[in-house]
Amino acid sequence: MSLIPPSEVFPPPERLLLGPGPSQVHPRVLAAMALPLVGHLDPSFVALMDETKRMLRAVFGTTNELTIPISGTGSAGLEAAIVNLVEPGDEVVIGVNGVFGTRLADVAERAGAVVVRAEAPWGEIVPAETIAAALGRTKKPRLLVLVHAETSTGVRQPLEDACRLAHEHDALFVIDCVTSLGGCPVDVDRLGVDAAYSGTQKCLSCPPGLAPITFGPRAVARLRARTRKVQSWYLDLTMLEKYWGEERVYHHTAPISMNYALYEALRVTLEEGLEARFTRHRRNHEALVAGLDALGLTMAVAPERRLWMLNSVRVPAGVDDAAVRRALLEEDRIEIGGGLGPLKGRTWRIGLMGESSTGDNVRRLLAALGRILPRHGLACDAGAGVAAAARVYAAE
Ligand SMILES: *Cc1c(COP(=O)(O)O)cnc(C)c1O
Repeated sequence: MSLIPPSEVFPPPERLLLGPGPSQVHPRVLAAMALPLVGHLDPSFVALMDETKRMLRAVFGTTNELTIPISGTGSAGLEAAIVNLVEPGDEVVIGVNGVFGTRLADVAERAGAVVVRAEAPWGEIVPAETIAAALGRTKKPRLLVLVHAETSTGVRQPLEDACRLAHEHDALFVIDCVTSLGGCPVDVDRLGVDAAYSGTQKCLSCPPGLAPITFGPRAVARLRARTRKVQSWYLDLTMLEKYWGEERVYHHTAPISMNYALYEALRVTLEEGLEARFTRHRRNHEALVAGLDALGLTMAVAPERRLWMLNSVRVPAGVDDAAVRRALLEEDRIEIGGGLGPLKGRTWRIGLMGESSTGDNVRRLLAALGRILPRHGLACDAGAGVAAAARVYAAE
């Protein structure tokens, strides 16, 4: 066997990414990643870091000084938020209604926290009463952590009441906005969020590899008041802030090309404008839902709780989840996601994130489903989905 791999392996095939992330990447971002490297302390790179922090603040809706990209995917942002704010023995309340709340609880327990779960069924929000009851079971809760956009279920978690409850208990309010940032309003300062983290490959439409994070004054005060070192050396914000701040102290070699990519992705985002970007995500979501409905499919989440960027659809009875996804990939080069955990085999997850959220992509997917579904046991009018989506676009 030759040492050189066969050509089917690389370069990658053409795909339209309509799953739970990564999303389509803008050509300007791909081009940025192909540029020559500079050193991680080069004056030009330092200028890029400063502009990145400025743009990230705009996207998060914050004036927080400590707003930087963590090197690593969204999970690194998750872990950074927890390990910097938790000391062993701290009580932490976590909303658990999907994969990412479950992951947060796991990470917090590994960091030595006493985790109190505010649980709700997958596919529903965590109600304010459940959060209040969980806080009531603690003596001195350090954090309340909620997932704003639960990508495993397609649910958007309301934040206002939870934020008030957290602050009434003198706990910091922390949110996971990995999937929501850049696709719907996050508004860290307006809501009173103390810390938030995200990822690059969802609605920011950048490859996976960085995790934007922001710490407000109360979170920074907690960081300064720690009695022990942060458990993780790599994710220790007290050291990372010295590289991203005025001192420019070497910590680890910044992933240069990833930072080029995020810089360009943030420019693309802000050139479009956040409001326009949110409107685009909402419109394409509405058109997709109308089209899916016309094909006889049912959404898995109540209308007022649905995410615009992640659409959970029930797999109809008698239809083979994996066979339909395989046909979409092989015939139409479209990737959508399957269900996770208790929803495995029961839902499809259609992502319309960032660059993936376009009218053309909505029509392309609906046309493909209209053609493929009848062969897999769901009788439908093949053109009905595209026609219903067209009516939504025409109505505006
Ligand atoms: C994708 C995602 C993460 C984890 O991000 P990775 O980049 O996969 O590490 C965390 N939280 C939510 C809500 C996500 O959608």
